[in-house]
Amino acid sequence: MKKRRLKKKVKIIGIGIILLTIIIIVLIKLSILFNSYEYKLKKIGYNKEETSIILKLDEDKVDEIITLELNKDIPLLIETKYFMYKNMHNYLDFYNKNSSYNLRDVVEIINTNRNKDYYVDIKSSDITKGNLTLVNKYYALNKEYEPVELKSVNLQYAYANNKLIKEANDKYIELAKAAKKLNYNLIINSSYRDFESQEDIYKAKEKTMGIEKTDELVARPGHSEHQLGYAIDIDLYKTEYDKLENTDEYKWLLENAHKYGFILRYPKAKENITGYSFEPWHYRYVGIEVAEYIYKNKITFDEYYAYYIEK
Ligand SMILES: [Zn+2]
Repeated sequence: MKKRRLKKKVKIIGIGIILLTIIIIVLIKLSILFNSYEYKLKKIGYNKEETSIILKLDEDKVDEIITLELNKDIPLLIETKYFMYKNMHNYLDFYNKNSSYNLRDVVEIINTNRNKDYYVDIKSSDITKGNLTLVNKYYALNKEYEPVELKSVNLQYAYANNKLIKEANDKYIELAKAAKKLNYNLIINSSYRDFESQEDIYKAKEKTMGIEKTDELVARPGHSEHQLGYAIDIDLYKTEYDKLENTDEYKWLLENAHKYGFILRYPKAKENITGYSFEPWHYRYVGIEVAEYIYKNKITFDEYYAYYIEK
């Protein structure tokens, strides 16, 4: 009798331990589930697809999204090309106030600071970036900046007194020679410009046109890429400067300049991003690899810089 009772007790204790273990396991599993990102995002209101998009971000970023209210634009933004997390709140604010834009436009505008006024919050251009240094209405070179290794451009392909950094100079000559083979005569009208000459140009225009119109057409001193020694204004024999756009040479340049490391810096329909009117004559040397990327992806150098260089 005693033995049997003992056996029963052991059995009950055994079953008890097993049940307890199962309960503990279930509780652990439930706590893992409730603490999981998937559960938390679902609770906020994101569906499975949106959750998987958000979970592509780093942990600290998901941690932040979990503290925010449901916003279905967040996963859509993450999927937008050139999305940068550090700009997310700015994208959302801007989109809220400007709902007529699409998300790609919003990303482009915010990445390039175009929600801010020109010439207000000015940063120094980072010249350590070499041929990828950004100079625009938000980034400026100082008065003293002068590139090293400037070389005069061969007079066969430039008017007198044109200088470029050697690398850009060599590549331009290759480009001009390739053009020449097709009977296209390229000639550089303007290239390196020091701070003082920018000042002279700006002041002269300002006198006749006023600040607003001048800012549309000419960079303020220190804000011109020409000071870098990597920018060229191309002219054509027998063609008026502002008619360049309708020439075969222009069309050829558009499709071929990138092969020599040059990009059309201020394209048509990108005026709101570059901050400049369309300039069919102004090309900028950025090296072949970057020029090909910009050509293929049809983005501005301003956005390329924000996404790939400054990021
Ligand atoms: Zn120019």
